[in-house]
Amino acid sequence: MTTAPSGKTKGKSNSTAAPKREVMRSPVFAEVGLPPDPDNLYTQTVDTMLQAAECLGVPHEVQIILAQPKNEIMVHFPVRMDDGEYKLFKGYRVQHNNALGPYKGGLRFHPDVHLDDVKSLAFLMTMKCALMRLPFGGGKGGVKCDPYGLTKGELMRVTRRFCAAISHAIGPDYDIPAPDVGTNAQVMAWFADTYESLTDSNRSSWDALRVVTGKPVEVGGSLGREKATGQGVVDVCTEILPSLGINVKGMKFSIIGYGNVGSWTARIFHDLGAKLVAVIDHKGGIRNDGGIDAHNLAEYVGKNGSVDGYEKTSTLTGAGKKTTAGATKISASEFYQTPVDVLVPAALEQMIKPEQAKLINAKVIAEGANAPTTPAGDRVLSERGIEVFPAILANAGGVTVSYFEWVQNKTCTSWSAERVDKELKHMMAQAAQRTLAARKRFNTDMRTAAYVAALEQIAKVYAVRGIFP
Ligand code: GLU
Repeated sequence: MTTAPSGKTKGKSNSTAAPKREVMRSPVFAEVGLPPDPDNLYTQTVDTMLQAAECLGVPHEVQIILAQPKNEIMVHFPVRMDDGEYKLFKGYRVQHNNALGPYKGGLRFHPDVHLDDVKSLAFLMTMKCALMRLPFGGGKGGVKCDPYGLTKGELMRVTRRFCAAISHAIGPDYDIPAPDVGTNAQVMAWFADTYESLTDSNRSSWDALRVVTGKPVEVGGSLGREKATGQGVVDVCTEILPSLGINVKGMKFSIIGYGNVGSWTARIFHDLGAKLVAVIDHKGGIRNDGGIDAHNLAEYVGKNGSVDGYEKTSTLTGAGKKTTAGATKISASEFYQTPVDVLVPAALEQMIKPEQAKLINAKVIAEGANAPTTPAGDRVLSERGIEVFPAILANAGGVTVSYFEWVQNKTCTSWSAERVDKELKHMMAQAAQRTLAARKRFNTDMRTAAYVAALEQIAKVYAVRGIFP
């Protein structure tokens, strides 16, 4: 019998009225020096992976390698603000694993960015790229800042100084950042330009831009990259939902977060005939059982920064004759209780805890965000028979089109939007089938199955390459 690092015996349940704590099962936690804190995001993500690793019989040495990132880089850098004063910023780049290829993963600009968060997201990138069978490992980075509180000039200087601070540790064939929460194609253009200026640009100036993906199309970006994560969520849903008796055309869905991933998912679903009935974000929630126009809402959020207040706008109905409110304002609990076929969390991590999971009135959760569901929330969803399409599958569209961009840059070609869409759909469908096959083989839930399908690839590569020396 294994004993958890906390000293509690595996499998024993606590019958007192105290809130149920999770027990970290694997001895690997103590071995690699991880605190067995069940509320810690990194602990949660690694714990789920280790359970899948046990299920698959992944060798111990691979488990301990994956339980900690290879490199954790933390930098501090000064930036001159518009008022002439200097402010010190903190940035991170975590390189989790590169057994399958160069480190790959986004850069997040957000006030709550911290090391454990970045470690978890880097770890998830390793799993995501492995599940998708991309020739990439996993990395993630970020700067602790509020990008919406910065002027354009300040944002550019933060980006350039951050790039300079980590430029020695990244590279077009070594570690390739991309957009994430709070960053976009413009930020990638400044980043690429700075990197190129700092490298031996006489010889390989254009090629140096390959150091990031998610660039504007004018500077080597790929068509279809901006909507790619949302497109991938839709592709996974269209592949799996029919087997659950759900037809995308006519289904009802709701979204948490209406940024890049949420709004693109909603618009693409809308165009396929699905009905967006509720949305919630950091400021407010809206609902309309008759359907919210996902395109109008995207325009509104683009101007106002939130869905809040959309209920006060009006929309034309019936041959443009009558106007009605676009939606009604709702609370968070009303949002979760809104009946839908599919709920897409597309905001930050750890949004769906047991209290939300108990309220959710959906058949399926398609995770557009990274790690939006806590393990405790997951258990409630599973007890309630709600199916979860895990993030490493459902939101892998972004990094997949990043891979297409990197290939286009490497080969000096540019693909048509149709080709990008077609290849993405094919790769998302294959990854969905890989996950379903693992699920059947191990009789497990979709999340464990996705990890199993990812780990299979990583374990195979370690077995063939061996471990240096
Ligand atoms: N930030 C995105 C993700 O979490 C995309 C990463 C990439 O394109 O490298 O998957």
